[in-house]
Amino acid sequence: MENNNPSTAQESKGLSFVEQLVLEDLQAGKNGGRLNTRFPPEPNGYLHIGHAKAICMDFGIAEKFGGTCNLRFDDTNPVKEDVEYVDSIREDIHWLGFDWGDREYYASDYFPQLFDLAVRLIKEGKAYVDDQTSEEIAAQKGTPTQPGTESPYRNRSVEENLDLFIRMNQGEFEEGARVLRAKIDMANPNMHFRDPIMYRIIKTPHHRTGTTWKVYPMYDFAHGQSDYFEGVTHSICTLEFVVHRPLYEYFVKELADESYCPRQIEFNRLNLTYTVMSKRKLLQLVNEGLVAGWDDPRMPTISGLRRRGFTPRSIRNFIDTIGYTKYEALNSISLLEHAVRDDLNKVATRGMAVINPVKVVITNYPEGQTETVEMDNNPESPEAGTHEMPFSREIYIERDDFMENPPKKFFRLAPDGEVRLKGAYIIKCTGVKKDAEGNIEEIYCTYDPESRSGLPGSQRKVKGTLHWVSATHAIDATARLYDRLFSVENPGAETERDFRELLNPDSLKVVEGIKVEPYLAEIAAPGLPLQFQRIGYFTLDPDSTPGNLIFNRTIALKDSWEKAQK
Ligand code: ATP
Ligand code: MG
Repeated sequence: MENNNPSTAQESKGLSFVEQLVLEDLQAGKNGGRLNTRFPPEPNGYLHIGHAKAICMDFGIAEKFGGTCNLRFDDTNPVKEDVEYVDSIREDIHWLGFDWGDREYYASDYFPQLFDLAVRLIKEGKAYVDDQTSEEIAAQKGTPTQPGTESPYRNRSVEENLDLFIRMNQGEFEEGARVLRAKIDMANPNMHFRDPIMYRIIKTPHHRTGTTWKVYPMYDFAHGQSDYFEGVTHSICTLEFVVHRPLYEYFVKELADESYCPRQIEFNRLNLTYTVMSKRKLLQLVNEGLVAGWDDPRMPTISGLRRRGFTPRSIRNFIDTIGYTKYEALNSISLLEHAVRDDLNKVATRGMAVINPVKVVITNYPEGQTETVEMDNNPESPEAGTHEMPFSREIYIERDDFMENPPKKFFRLAPDGEVRLKGAYIIKCTGVKKDAEGNIEEIYCTYDPESRSGLPGSQRKVKGTLHWVSATHAIDATARLYDRLFSVENPGAETERDFRELLNPDSLKVVEGIKVEPYLAEIAAPGLPLQFQRIGYFTLDPDSTPGNLIFNRTIALKDSWEKAQK
């Protein structure tokens, strides 16, 4: 089911099949050789990584072939839409690195033209008002192999249809009382042609047009026409719209001519393991408090991934890797995680933080003395420079890095054993102090003063190297350790278990009292990628205050899930 092989994901190394089709149109001089795409989010939720795939296609292809891409808010259902979503969508597209210039449009801008077109179709006998309930209409739809039944209202006079449609829009009738339907063919093998609904009555005010309209167009009646009104040449969308394409073309032909006609092309949507992608489900998680909000770092939303510390480049690289095909697939989230590690490895500033600290006292180091050691900011890129880190008599190391009775291959600290403190000295464990319950409170060590880098003993080899921070200088902070939100591979699959029962109970662990070296605390900012050496990639959470720094773990250094599955 998974498609992890990038080479099968893309038809040829060079262009995706969508790019090939667009290129052919351009070369054939269609639409005067213009290329204009659009990204059409419905402002009823935050964008998720699936949308990022569509954004990379819509904006990317325009960039590649010298065209333009419109941002069109598909705001045809005032019941679910909100300006909060409009703002977040804008921010997320910009963050991904794309721009729509002055081409920001709203389907609601076309309500007047769409209404005029509907009136025209009524006058031409191509649309009628149906007084039946939605249940009655659904019951007459038929099946793919059985024709539907014609509505008793199908043959109303043009005058009556016009009168009713106008009164529908004046608010005279209740929601659900009447709809406007296209009069096409109740026996058509394509169910979407069986007199599809064009308009329904909605009385909730619209976030842009207020109470001007009481009838709102359905997707199929709005989308292609909006494309046409905007001059869109290629309307690229996901595979579930393949079956809508004939209807798209049917309505668009009412407007278009030889010189210009938009064309719909479909690619496979992004589905990710351990993730739900439907906005409806994501909204449920938010509304039911199962996550902290749309931008909870465990969410697959762009804002969640941003807060978590994912970089735009890692998301775009991931989307390039999986490519665009004509077949549905479920992509492994480890491919995304790989892209994130790959990018963060190049850009993250290295530093030291101890997540589960235990104190080490270096008994032969002078009390009150401090020195500094120099640390690479990023060994992957020398131009990232270095920073200084204080060293003193008392330090913290990870509790896990010490064992009193270690197994054979334990290359960390143990009684009478030696390890190197990264960037500093070799220390040797001489004893421990325990509390009444036998828990280790402090570890005692001596250090080898000749073992610091630059000194004669620096070449001396020991098996283990530990990260550490100076106890007197370290800053206390909080870590939020995030993991996958769901514990099963395909939580979106239709099973009898509700997706909310499949949440990973360990998707967030909050650890207080972590110890962070001063430099990291000083430079930390939301979105700035950091690597806590030997621990993982982190970034500052916007909830931080100067007195309480909170670090989000973007991702661990290695894929612990892969190991667990072996
Ligand atoms: P829902 O999640 O409720 O199905 P939607 O994802 O269709 O809603 P829209 O705002 O209508 O939400 O989507 C805008 C555009 O993003 C559409 O062109 C749609 O095809 C595309 N898109 C949505 N989800 C994905 C996905 N998982 N992968 C690729 N493209 C997607
Ligand atoms: Mg949609």
